[in-house]
Amino acid sequence: MNDYVKRVIESTKTKYAHEPEFIQAVEEVLTSVEPLVDAHPEYEKYDLLNRIIEPERMFTFRVVWMDDNGQYHTNTGYRFQFNGAIGPYKGGLRFQKNVYPGIIKFLGFEQIFKNSLTGLPIGGAKGGSDFDPQGKSDAEIMRFCQAFMQGLYRYIGPDIDVPAGDMGVGGREIGYLYGEYRRLKGAFENGVLTGKGMSYGGSLIRPEATGYGAVYYLLNVLDHFGDKLEGKVIVASGYGNVTWGLCKKAAQLGAKVVTISGRDGYIYDEDGVSTDEKINYLLEMRASTKGSIRDYAEKFNVPFFPGEKPWGVNGDIVMPCATQNEVGMKEAEKIVASGAKYYIEVSNMSTEAAAQAYLKDKLTVAPSKAVNAGGVATSALEMCQNSERMSWTAEEVDQRLEDIMDHIYQVSVEAAEKYGLGYDLVAGANLAGFEKVAEAMVEQGVF
Ligand code: GLU
Repeated sequence: MNDYVKRVIESTKTKYAHEPEFIQAVEEVLTSVEPLVDAHPEYEKYDLLNRIIEPERMFTFRVVWMDDNGQYHTNTGYRFQFNGAIGPYKGGLRFQKNVYPGIIKFLGFEQIFKNSLTGLPIGGAKGGSDFDPQGKSDAEIMRFCQAFMQGLYRYIGPDIDVPAGDMGVGGREIGYLYGEYRRLKGAFENGVLTGKGMSYGGSLIRPEATGYGAVYYLLNVLDHFGDKLEGKVIVASGYGNVTWGLCKKAAQLGAKVVTISGRDGYIYDEDGVSTDEKINYLLEMRASTKGSIRDYAEKFNVPFFPGEKPWGVNGDIVMPCATQNEVGMKEAEKIVASGAKYYIEVSNMSTEAAAQAYLKDKLTVAPSKAVNAGGVATSALEMCQNSERMSWTAEEVDQRLEDIMDHIYQVSVEAAEKYGLGYDLVAGANLAGFEKVAEAMVEQGVF
């Protein structure tokens, strides 16, 4: 192993022992870019690796909000502005009980390379809060979002940092966040947030973009093997925005998603989550904030597996869409035994490190930072529309999204080949994403 890479990984493990997700993300990226570091001895002189794993700026802020009974509650707000070398900081906000610095940090770090891969001018950031949206009323969500923006608004802007949604933050939350930003700034700067509603500057196709983009990426992989999407069976997890977009595009192209999952278990729908009624029901489930997948089983009369995950269900393509590290070694073994040929990560860092290595050995693996980049790419298209003060048609946005996903696939394949790694989509995505950011950092001088 390259000595500089090795030393930086070792010191990361010591320094951030309390942030295992961040260590995992750093290790994957730095191991992948080793041939690039070998080829660029100047990286060490400029200490590029330690600089790229050190966020340019990260801060927390106090968020105090009132519940419907008049009781006040205090949460931590986070925004980590990781790397701005190629554009304004860009990345989602996650509202989830388990949020702590290690989660925001791994997500922000991944976002640097994901955003770079899109070919668009966006830097990497992430933020959020340990606020738990489960079971909160609409008024409580609004008050929380307003309080959150009060802590954040001074530090963001259309040319500074442009937050968006992630888990627990959808169109409704973005609306409340933007309303508060506008009130505080006294200006209509709607390029400050993406994932907005259509009435105030949102982009068509943004809600579908992550799921659609994942399918566009997948089409490239299938094409590489002379294979087709039509007739394929997809085993997926999750039931939120990403899974919804995936089901919709898969259905349009003649493939079926046979499993979806929630915190209470998974359902198996032999006919696929394919009709408009079923696909729209996912939106209803999400809006209900109950987080229960059993409702789907009851409504459509399909088997429900309480407390279980869908890994091991027979299918051609496995697509985890729920959260980080949802597939560990045990799950990976079941996936291999199920006969699946393609493992396409969709949720950020879906797979534990050892499980990913095992899967790479047995089947074709695509990494989340490439596969799910269609979401943030379409956010960048939303920013373009906002600065042009106009909106593009759904067809136009969709076509650009497809082109961007093809580009991401192409540059990943080419980067892996260039460094003698063959058809390695994981290493290729890291190499291609890293190279552009590194070049910008070197050209801009040391800081
Ligand atoms: N949270 C999404 C992601 O993980 C979207 C970020 C954005 O649109 O800025 O990439």
